[in-house]
Amino acid sequence: MDTYSLAVSSFLTDEEIQFRDNVRRFMRDVVAPLVPQMEAEGQPPAGLLERMGDEGILGTFLPEEYGGAGASLMTRAIVAEETARMSAGFDATLFVNISLVARHLAKYGTHEQKEKYLRPLAMGRASASICLSEPHGGSDALSPRTVAHKDGDHWVIKGHKTFITNAPIAEFFLVFTRTSGEDRRVKGGTCFIVEKDAPGLTVGQPFDKLSLRSSPTAEVYFDDVRVHESQILGNAEEGFNILLDGLDLERVFEGASNTGIAQACLDVAVPYALDRKVFGEAISSYQMIQDKIARMATGVEISRTMFYHLVRACERGVNVNREAAMLKLYSSEVAVEASREAVQILGGYGLMEEYPAARLYRDAKHHEIGAGTSEIQKLIISKETLRQYRQVA
Ligand SMILES: Cc1cc2nc3c(=O)[nH]c(=O)nc-3n(C[C@H](O)[C@H](O)[C@H](O)COP(=O)(O)OP(=O)(O)OC[C@H]3O[C@@H](n4cnc5c(N)ncnc54)[C@H](O)[C@@H]3O)c2cc1C
Repeated sequence: MDTYSLAVSSFLTDEEIQFRDNVRRFMRDVVAPLVPQMEAEGQPPAGLLERMGDEGILGTFLPEEYGGAGASLMTRAIVAEETARMSAGFDATLFVNISLVARHLAKYGTHEQKEKYLRPLAMGRASASICLSEPHGGSDALSPRTVAHKDGDHWVIKGHKTFITNAPIAEFFLVFTRTSGEDRRVKGGTCFIVEKDAPGLTVGQPFDKLSLRSSPTAEVYFDDVRVHESQILGNAEEGFNILLDGLDLERVFEGASNTGIAQACLDVAVPYALDRKVFGEAISSYQMIQDKIARMATGVEISRTMFYHLVRACERGVNVNREAAMLKLYSSEVAVEASREAVQILGGYGLMEEYPAARLYRDAKHHEIGAGTSEIQKLIISKETLRQYRQVA
């Protein structure tokens, strides 16, 4: 359903609005009927990514010479919102493939790496993973226990990563290791591109999880995996810079996904409230239901306005570190609250799997944890705010 949003006419070009409408049609006609299958099978069906690649809605902002369309960053945010509106799990697969792995390859890869790894991702011919989190803790991202040491013109990787999105379907992995230096230091990290059949690499069984059931997640083990030095992404010892450099935009794209989830909550709850009669009246006529709808719609519009604003700032190269953390924090809370209220508005039906409200309720929660928890976003926001006041004191 098309709903009015002032943010759209304020921030999007006519071309981007047309692109959004095409993406929306694709999600409604092609992706929506596949959602029950994806939720049951735990991964997207064969050929879906390829079809998106062929339709030109996958690698939109990636360079044309490597299978992208050279379009605005906004097109990626639009795809994130529209995909998450239909399936937050499928959005997670695209998020990792395109917003994370492809973006890092486009920025830091050599020509050979882009040809071999970026092109198939941009065209939907492959999936990939980003391996950062480890069993001892994901928030402390610069303290991996996964290490690599040099052996001639090769490197040997040893360690264990967990919660890795796409691992069961990935053709290759971007693996963040510590190669020198101390925990929590930016210097001394190295990022390797490791192919799925590298000897010593094992992928665990997919996790059975509360959220994002359409997206496969597993552990990945590296038992003395040897990779040639040409498989380093960027420079040795500078791998954590890749990670830090991409974090703000990652959170902005997360904001787009969260907005999609919250919008989906409105999509299910409002028609239901208009239709459902209790005590002889549609429940939409009751003020306690109107209060919920008002809060949900407000959260959606503010989240959308903020992510559009930050995408445009990123396109201009502006530093959005504090604001991206605010968006990630706020929009994930909006999505969680909207999903809770959607279930409430549907009453008992909200708890039944035949309506999307139950899935939205499960999926929204992920976004207060994945890609940096709410507590970590608050640390970033408060640190920067305190710094600003200290400077004037
Ligand atoms: C479905 C799913 C998919 C994922 N996909 C990927 C992926 O593809 N690649 C990848 O690398 N990772 C992935 N992750 C991991 C995700 O990024 C981590 O779960 C997240 O960063 C938190 O790490 P943790 O789970 O180890 O929690 P911990 O870091 O152990 O934190 C536990 C709790 O302590 C809090 N906490 C930690 N430090 C502080 C502090 N200083 N102050 C206050 N509170 C604090 C946290 O906010 C949290 O509430 C995924 C996770 C999930 C659930």
